[in-house]
Amino acid sequence: MFRRMREELMNSEANAEIYMKFMKSHCCYDAIPTSCKLVIFDTTLQVKKAFFALVANGLRAAPLWDSKKQRFVGMLTITDFINILHRYYRSPLVQMNELERHQIGTWRDVYLQYSDHCLHSISPDASLFDAIYLLLRYKIHRLPVIDPVSGNVLHIITHKRILKFLHIFQETVPKPQFLQKTIQDLGVGTFRNIATVQQTASLYDALSLFVERRVSALPVVNTKGKVVALYSRFDVINLAARKTYNNLNISMQEAIQQRCCFIEGVIKCLPDETLGTAIDRIVKAEVHRLVLVDREDICLGIVSLSDLLQAMVLTPADISSKSM
Ligand code: ADP
Ligand code: ADP
Ligand code: AMP
Repeated sequence: MFRRMREELMNSEANAEIYMKFMKSHCCYDAIPTSCKLVIFDTTLQVKKAFFALVANGLRAAPLWDSKKQRFVGMLTITDFINILHRYYRSPLVQMNELERHQIGTWRDVYLQYSDHCLHSISPDASLFDAIYLLLRYKIHRLPVIDPVSGNVLHIITHKRILKFLHIFQETVPKPQFLQKTIQDLGVGTFRNIATVQQTASLYDALSLFVERRVSALPVVNTKGKVVALYSRFDVINLAARKTYNNLNISMQEAIQQRCCFIEGVIKCLPDETLGTAIDRIVKAEVHRLVLVDREDICLGIVSLSDLLQAMVLTPADISSKSM
């Protein structure tokens, strides 16, 4: 009896480790698409021009090259745009001179003076498991893949790309049993202290939440607490696209209507849906998170790609999010 129990336990452990082994056996180079656009900014470029260049190229982030140091020193992402707006915004009548004049390097000197600002990168030969570990360990969304020989950035790897890569191979990878379990039973996601924003709140309030809570998106709720929209950090780039960043006093309702590129409705999930269903939905919709709601659309939590990769890959390797 004990032997059978031990075999069953070992089988279930092996089953739970399928995705972990998949990620350990594929390298970052494997997940790089055959063709994609990559833009690099010199740190002497003006911040404002850099964000306009992100918009013009339809990109979300760019590696930063320091020509004095002759190496990559960091990343410029939409979070940096949010931090700049939040720090220098006064009112619609006062121009943000710092945004108009600062070079990327000047901004980084101001912003990073008290924090660790080393660039986290990965080699193309490193495993996808290591990439997931770094993304989750440092709570970042962009990991440049740098060729150790040439020093060139080959790609910027994200949670989305890694999950998409797994999805491409889904027919060849056996399905772990935990995919049949519900979100609620597995406890995948964040269920407490969810950062949400009222639709009547100002856009500046939303930026404050992004800065203070360091969350990647805010469910937008009405007075009854129902989720009516989702506003993510990505949506803030619309302000650069439309050159409307000089007025952050507008309401969230207006900010949502003014977006030029967005997803209709909110991509949600229910606590009694299975993990497999949630993964299929998030991959298909190409979004970074699902909003967990009850049947009345009251926000219960967030299931983000970080939570999914933690549950699918790191937890089976005994790496808990708390220990990182
Ligand atoms: P976003 O969600 O806006 O795309 P991130 O969450 O990745 O961006 O970025 C959060 C902060 O971390 C930003 O200030 C960004 O410049 C910085 N950052 C992002 N990626 C890296 C990296 N690979 N190494 C160091 N810093 C990074
Ligand atoms: P990124 O690719 O930078 O991670 P996001 O997935 O956060 O970007 O956002 C891309 C777009 O998808 C944004 O317009 C955002 O509002 C939208 N979006 C993201 N998650 C959801 C969701 N759960 N429901 C509806 N729209 C979403
Ligand atoms: P992300 O930055 O979306 O990859 O998520 C990192 C962690 O923050 C995950 O555990 C998410 O569940 C959690 N999270 C994301 N958005 C919110 C939010 N609005 N409120 C609370 N937690 C969040």
